[in-house]
Amino acid sequence: MAMDCLSNYINGKLVPPRSHQYIEGHNPATGEAYVGIPDSDEQDVAAAVQAAESAFPGWSVTPTEERARLMFRIADLIDRDREKLAMAESVDNGKPVALARSVDIPRASSNFRFFASAITQFASEAHPMEDRAINYTLRKPLGVVGCISPWNLPLYLFTWKIAPALATGNCVVGKPSELTPMSAFLLSKLSIEAGLPSGVLNIVHGYGQKVGAAIAAHPRVPAITFTGGTKTGGEIAKAAAPMFKKLSLEMGGKNPTIIFADCDYEKMLATTLRSSFLNQGEICFCGSRIFVERPLYERFKADFVARARAMRVSDPLDEKTDLGAIVSQAHLDKILSYIALAGKEGGTILCGGKKVTPPGRCANGWFVEPTVVEGLAPTCRTNQEEIFGPVVTLTPFDTEDEVLRYADSTQYGLAAILWTQNLSRAHRVAGRIHSGIVWVNCWMLRDLRTPFGGMKNSGLGKEGGLEALRFFTEPKNVCIEI
Ligand code: NAD
Repeated sequence: MAMDCLSNYINGKLVPPRSHQYIEGHNPATGEAYVGIPDSDEQDVAAAVQAAESAFPGWSVTPTEERARLMFRIADLIDRDREKLAMAESVDNGKPVALARSVDIPRASSNFRFFASAITQFASEAHPMEDRAINYTLRKPLGVVGCISPWNLPLYLFTWKIAPALATGNCVVGKPSELTPMSAFLLSKLSIEAGLPSGVLNIVHGYGQKVGAAIAAHPRVPAITFTGGTKTGGEIAKAAAPMFKKLSLEMGGKNPTIIFADCDYEKMLATTLRSSFLNQGEICFCGSRIFVERPLYERFKADFVARARAMRVSDPLDEKTDLGAIVSQAHLDKILSYIALAGKEGGTILCGGKKVTPPGRCANGWFVEPTVVEGLAPTCRTNQEEIFGPVVTLTPFDTEDEVLRYADSTQYGLAAILWTQNLSRAHRVAGRIHSGIVWVNCWMLRDLRTPFGGMKNSGLGKEGGLEALRFFTEPKNVCIEI
């Protein structure tokens, strides 16, 4: 293959896959193959696990301050290379470079910084039994942990897993998505530059069915943290169950945006446009089902559709682009098939619905218009299944009970977005809705100390803050009679 090829990062070195086979990686904006991705297999995973196991005794007793120092160093290097990483992320994923620069890359460095700092403050409990004994809890790292991440926020979500794992003294075998491996490859170079000891972090590229499955099935990887689709999460859980692995699974969603007539209208409108279409709707937190209280419905529909129509779908490298390219041809086809399904189910396409062919270098890229559909029952497939693209449905409602019934009617429970100026209602609905995260009068605000993750089929276990530090450590009670 004439194009540049990426390497695995195993035992501190950049190495080719054992098979010497490469997968073609595409630029979604042009549709062209531009990079070779290691087509690794279980042998590469075995080598990575071996390297991580060898590094573990040293890394797990490395003083916290030293682990934190190395992680701060990696964060600084990510910031130094922000422009380069943002460009790489945009080319690999199709997202607007301005978005990668302002969200993905800064959040990746803040993941390292947050957990480097948090680990120096981490403490465990003691339970004194009056004058008889003292119990105290030791929290030990687990050993080699598997970190498997998706393509939508590549470096952001990969580092969200790796950072707490390393901070707590574990060694990592990581696998980024085969659709967007570039920023993880660049991270491996930065880890070498930062002086991270060999084997502490290993990154194996390749297909999920081969590399991801080999990590999930490896008997000496006692914990897996995964972000991706619900079906894949189920496969990982199945592979891990007989070995009783510790699992953290962050999976799909079909998030409701609930708009009450008393909301701050302009703020709601601007934010709902973002929460519907940011990153081409390929964010697990995007609200894809918009429920609007009936008195506001027609006004909202007219304004929202007009603003959606005005969004620019074009070259991700153009600073003025609102929506870039869809990550793959297969995903574009899936989105278009759901738009067709919405029509068959009786929906009216109010705007969008079609593939876009931008002029110039992006003429063969994978673009789709922001699409708004109305007239569908909350129970139909379009309103129940995750599309993960720039497609939203509008549904009017009359009462709080009714909208909660609609909102909770899917298998998912990841995030919900709520718009109301009524304080009591905000607290009441936020408390009642079956969703791991609720944003009230805002969206995607992030505080890294808070527990993060979905409920129902959207998630098992929580990430973020202390939850992540607890996940990556095993509590052990020591009871001393005094
Ligand atoms: P995916 O499940 O196809 O892939 C995710 C990762 O798992 C990839 O690295 C993939 O190679 C790997 N994988 C695939 N099959 C595997 C197997 N059998 N064993 C082990 N690993 C395997 O998901 P995707 O298409 O990359 O990402 C989109 C999905 O991710 C959407 O459903 C979205 O909602 C979800 N997501 C969830 C969150 C969250 O926080 N809950 C965040 C982002 C994305």
